[in-house]
Amino acid sequence: MDIFETLESEVRSYCRSWDTVFERASGSVLYNEDGMEYLDFFSGAGALNYGHNNPIMLKALIDYLQSGAITMSLDMKTPAKRRFLENFRELILAPRGLDYKVMFPGPTGTNSVEAALKLARKYTGRHHILSFTNAFHGMTLGSLSVTGNSMKRAGAGIPLTNTSSMPYDGYFSDRTAEISWLRQALDDTGSGVDKPAAVIVETVQGEGGLRAARVPWLKDLSALCREHGALLIVDDIQAGCGRTGTFFSFEEAGITPDIVCLSKSISGFGLPLALTLFSPELDIWKPGEHNGTFRGHNPAFVTGAAALEHFWRDDEFEKQIARRSRQLHEGLSQIAAGNEGAVVRGRGLLAGIYYPDPATAHRVAAECFSKGLLVETSGPQDEVLKTMPALTISAARLSRGLDILAAAARAVTGSPNTYQPVA
Ligand SMILES: *Cc1c(COP(=O)(O)O)cnc(C)c1O
Repeated sequence: MDIFETLESEVRSYCRSWDTVFERASGSVLYNEDGMEYLDFFSGAGALNYGHNNPIMLKALIDYLQSGAITMSLDMKTPAKRRFLENFRELILAPRGLDYKVMFPGPTGTNSVEAALKLARKYTGRHHILSFTNAFHGMTLGSLSVTGNSMKRAGAGIPLTNTSSMPYDGYFSDRTAEISWLRQALDDTGSGVDKPAAVIVETVQGEGGLRAARVPWLKDLSALCREHGALLIVDDIQAGCGRTGTFFSFEEAGITPDIVCLSKSISGFGLPLALTLFSPELDIWKPGEHNGTFRGHNPAFVTGAAALEHFWRDDEFEKQIARRSRQLHEGLSQIAAGNEGAVVRGRGLLAGIYYPDPATAHRVAAECFSKGLLVETSGPQDEVLKTMPALTISAARLSRGLDILAAAARAVTGSPNTYQPVA
């Protein structure tokens, strides 16, 4: 028993499946204390979209810290915050024609979700929120109340109220049923569902099993929200920052959410930072009404600004993500082939394999770890093998990871897949 087991709480989780001590990392590779190499198909659950210790952000951070500049300033004005906001407006919002105010809640995803829910209720004067089956929005009480997973919900210890769960796209086998259910719940005054302040949605369900909503479904959802005076909140904490191929995951659907939650990779370097974006007319907050000590951490602004400058100046990065996504999806399809009922789920570099036997994904992930590859599972029963390589991963490293994954899947399922190693 080491100190992690004797002193650290039972609540710890990732360190149980990956029971080693990670010491160094670079790009898509981590090393443990004994120098053993692990290829990273996990990327800090999406907080390391640009890989570990990206040299561009690392240099910006070291220069900043050595210059004697401000580290902690609550939400006071600093040049670091100015540069982040300028870059965010010029490189992200303006080119996409998005007019959002930027709020810095506490530096975690769940804090961004809490701010979004509060603001939607305050603005509309309604109390009810609609969320979706298998949604994950964070672990504080408001976020849990819109999260599907029963184990996580039970941790709240109190009833989670003022929300209803609606079927996400693809929840039923009949692909038209879900949106009709939602429409009916909103249209029918006898549905028993109170008029919602907002509907909160992930375009790809990161933790809940990698279901990806189709474009027409997202368009219908957006239109339904407008029709019923409900705000549309997109939780882009995991699927945003390029993960699905574009900076925001909803760009492909051509919708403009009223509120957007961002965190995980927005600092570009794995430092804590979160944003809540909303249409200017929603900005009815009173000063300090959603306050917090660490709202806008200067080192995170510095690395975040550098990441935007380096990766999002033109569309080269998006093209590279598209190439890697094709490679990943092709590889995953070949690995899934040969397993009755196994299907590829997800979008962009947030993709994986659903296995009908819920034990399979967990066993494949464990086998991958023993072969030096970090992959996690997703879904209410961990039934989906989830890959999330860095967006910056090389084609060769991606192939190498897929080779390991294919071998692990063969070893666990005993069935041959059609996967052909490239080299
Ligand atoms: C990770 C995540 C959150 C919660 O973010 P934390 O920083 O862990 O609080 C919320 N929503 C989605 C979609 C996430 O992936």
